[in-house]
This record gives sequence, C-alpha cells and structure tokens, in this order.
Amino acid sequence: MGKGKGLLESVQEIAKENKFNPKKYRIDPVEIVAETEKILREDYTQTLMISAVLGQMVEARGKKRFPPPAFFAFIEMLSMVSDVPRDTKSETSTEIEERATRVIELMTTLVSLICEWSEKGVIGVATDCPESLREVARAVFRKTKLLQGGLWTCISCGNIVEARETKALMCLDCDKKISSSRSIEDRFESLGGRDRIGYGRTSE
Ligand SMILES: [Zn+2]
Repeated sequence: MGKGKGLLESVQEIAKENKFNPKKYRIDPVEIVAETEKILREDYTQTLMISAVLGQMVEARGKKRFPPPAFFAFIEMLSMVSDVPRDTKSETSTEIEERATRVIELMTTLVSLICEWSEKGVIGVATDCPESLREVARAVFRKTKLLQGGLWTCISCGNIVEARETKALMCLDCDKKISSSRSIEDRFESLGGRDRIGYGRTSE
C-alpha cells in the first residue's frame, strides 16, 4: 500500500480520463449513492466482479491506481447492498467493464463532494455533506488517514493492520482463512458467503 499522496491528483486524472470535469459536474451526492446502489443491486456476480476490478485498481501503482478514498467509499456502498440476489445470467466482460467504469466515476465524484480536501488529500467531512452520508464520509476520512499513517483497514474483518502486512487488501489472518482462493474476486466472494452481513464494514 502506498501513502495517500497525490490523491486529489489521481481523482482529477481519473475524472479527466472518464471525460468529465468535476468542477462542472454538479450533482447531488445522494443521487450518486442511489445510482451506485442500483448498479450494485443488479446482480451479485456482477457486483463481485466490479469489486475485483476496483480491488485490483486500488492496489495498482501510478496512473491506473483507483484513489483509496474512492475505494473506501465503495466498500461502504457494498455494505448497503449485502442482500443482492444471485442470478443465473452471465455478464459479458464489456458489461462488467462499463459498470466498473461508471462505479469508478461515481465513487470518485462522491468522495470529492462529501469529503473536505486539501493538497494532502482528505482532511475531513465536507461542511455541505448531506446528513445521510456523513457516516460514509467519516469512514472514508478515517480509513484514508490511517492509510496515510501506513495502516490498512482489512476489507473482511475491519481490523486495522500495518499496510505492508496485508495481502490483497486483507489482514494476514483473513488471508490465511481463505488462502486456497487466490483471486481478489474470490476474496470479495468470501465476504459475501454464508453471513453476508459484514461485507467489509467496520463494526463501529
Ligand atoms: Zn481481516
């Protein structure tokens, strides 16, 4: 895990790559959350695959990196949709890619709206953050701050561990438990298994 440097830059970059201008793009964060929820509720398998794409991107380096605050917002969204039904329809990779791209846009925009930013990255909850999203903004801020201090919040159990001692976004204990399944997709699957209540949400 890298430090939280250049987050704002990454946000701008991704926004540019996705061809919209965040300054021009004025939208209600509550609507962003609603649209994200709609996508994530479409189908459980698709949501897992989107999660895998985003998980890999947050671990990536450089331009392709998905900004951690946006990823943390995504984790919060996942916890809102833990009851998505499985379906039998198989998605094409183009569909997954399109949905993942849209979720990236939505999450990047969301954190830019609900969090207070400085050159150093997220520095708090935006003053005009809607009441219903303050908890999400606080979680994003807290996890980003921890990451800047070299700590990572395990996406499975929510425990806080040294960022360098994580494996594919999980603490070593959780990693051991599912060591037979290596892919990030399997990891998100493991969160949605028998007790799909947690889905990576911290228990505070
Ligand atoms: Zn864990």
